[in-house]
Amino acid sequence: MKKNPWKKVVFATDLPACEWCGEPYCSKHKKHYADCSCLGPTQDGAQYKTVRGTLYGRKISSKK
Ligand SMILES: [Zn+2]
Ligand SMILES: [Zn+2]
Repeated sequence: MKKNPWKKVVFATDLPACEWCGEPYCSKHKKHYADCSCLGPTQDGAQYKTVRGTLYGRKISSKK
């Protein structure tokens, strides 16, 4: 069984606004937040946990 690592969840409010359209922009992936692969707080098929006030999440692959 493959384990997915926990990743820090990226909130749209953590990201700067795109200077062209005002949408949250991810500079890490150079994409708009809606299009990048960062894990958001309300993703389908993801599992979440909070560690010291920081939200972490991971994708759960086993979905039937
Ligand atoms: Zn934009
Ligand atoms: Zn991203």
